[in-house]
Amino acid sequence: MAIRPWLERFRSDVVTIEGPVKRELEATRHLVAHPDRPVFLPNLEGGPAVGNLWSTRDRVSAALHVPPDRLLPALLQAQAHPKDTNLVDKAEVLRETSRDIDLTALPVPKLFPKDAGRYITAGVWVAEWKGARNLSFHRILILGKDRGACRIVPRHLRHMYNEAMQAGEELKVAVCIGLDPWNLLAGGTSVEYGVDESRIASALTDACLAKPVEMVRLPNGLTVPADAEYVLEGRLIPETHDEGPFVDAVRTYDRVRKEPVLVVERIHHRKDAIFHIIVGGLDEHFLFMGMPREPAIYQAVSRAVPHVKAVRLTEGGCAWLHGVVSIRKQHQGDGKNAILAAFGAHTSMKQVVIVDEDIDVFSDRDVEWAIATRFQADRGLVVLHDVRGSSIDPSARDGFTSKLGIDATKPLGGDPAMFDKAAL
Ligand code: MN
Repeated sequence: MAIRPWLERFRSDVVTIEGPVKRELEATRHLVAHPDRPVFLPNLEGGPAVGNLWSTRDRVSAALHVPPDRLLPALLQAQAHPKDTNLVDKAEVLRETSRDIDLTALPVPKLFPKDAGRYITAGVWVAEWKGARNLSFHRILILGKDRGACRIVPRHLRHMYNEAMQAGEELKVAVCIGLDPWNLLAGGTSVEYGVDESRIASALTDACLAKPVEMVRLPNGLTVPADAEYVLEGRLIPETHDEGPFVDAVRTYDRVRKEPVLVVERIHHRKDAIFHIIVGGLDEHFLFMGMPREPAIYQAVSRAVPHVKAVRLTEGGCAWLHGVVSIRKQHQGDGKNAILAAFGAHTSMKQVVIVDEDIDVFSDRDVEWAIATRFQADRGLVVLHDVRGSSIDPSARDGFTSKLGIDATKPLGGDPAMFDKAAL
């Protein structure tokens, strides 16, 4: 689906800013003022744009027709069993195509005062190399009419880029902006190299909406989600440029690095396309970064304890550094095994709270209640020293961090009724 029908579908939540909005910082002010509501900026300098569209689990689950607590199992299933996409001949995104590129004219905002410049943040990149296909998020700092510096983190796209450079070739890419939540979740997924994340999106829509994801072929041969609002077609060239500072998920400024340069050759967009803005450190960023990691934590903890009910990377912990897992405890010590398994599954996590299954992991207050009434630091605390942690945690020392595990499950052996929340 395109963005307009989604805005229509969620219209009771949407905040529309009717007047003209400047690209420099003003768009961010509106988005930060309404963090959990879609903010539609029909008159943003350069063209219409939206942000915070997928900033709640409820809207993502509504789009997929699954209750919020079924999202994780659906994602787990889709990651385990990817499905074919459906290649179509025509797509609205190919309606307007131009080789006369001017990225500076687009509604691309400068989000925070010390950012290096204007950034495209919601772009999911498609690339192929020697039979392997990849989808992933990478921010783009606009450098000029047809080029940008791109933060290519050392993962799959970086591998493809390195291989292409070593072979003396440029790497063909497509950057898709204005995608449905399943394609965005696919862009945030980390599976092994060579797995086409589009097929994970397709398995998700197949299971939830009974239809595959539709793809369309670009002139450069790559196939992209047909429902995108904008697609930038181009190549990564053997040139680097300063990228950053830029506000990342933890809402602090990421440092300057030399990063690959993208040259855009064609721009495709829908008629009256709506540009998608994801603000670093707001909930929409959290969901597409954190939610696709939850299945891996679920699986790992499931191998350590008999039954896992729910997993959540919490917004307060930037949906990356802190998590909560609810389990059905059967043996004393299950909580601590769950802590170790969770840290092993998501190495960036530095705090995890393990709770019983009567605790709602989606309620911060309920989780704190479990800590308040079921946890004693001398018995339930696990501290791991100098573990390799997240690169985006400003308090980490040279990439090393200390990890905090809290076993807030009821002790077995005592009177379990003492720990139950009274109900009417
Ligand atoms: Mn990949």
